[in-house]
Amino acid sequence: MSDDAGARLRARLAEVEARLARQRRELDGLVDAARDANVDDEHDPEGATLAWERQQTATLVAHAESEREGLLAALDRLAAGTYGRCEVCHEPIPAARLEVRPAATRCVRHAG
Ligand SMILES: [Zn+2]
Repeated sequence: MSDDAGARLRARLAEVEARLARQRRELDGLVDAARDANVDDEHDPEGATLAWERQQTATLVAHAESEREGLLAALDRLAAGTYGRCEVCHEPIPAARLEVRPAATRCVRHAG
């Protein structure tokens, strides 16, 4: 079970890091594009589109970063032997939930 969890966490982490690298490159490109076009003027339609895209991409990067942190924390818990237990009630988190959300820190009852 813990070997499976470790493999799953590492696979998910590799996936997130690849996505993060791609999104960061995309974000850099958008920042450069905005600078090159000198489109900081919010009344310029192209500038507004670029600003919007940049914001969307920055949000995706932030999501991927927090997902990555969650996975790294889960790997730490796995090493410490506390992985898969709810941090509130300390009951085991159902395997089905961990399959969907390997970085889950709480059981369904205490999530959210
Ligand atoms: Zn719980």
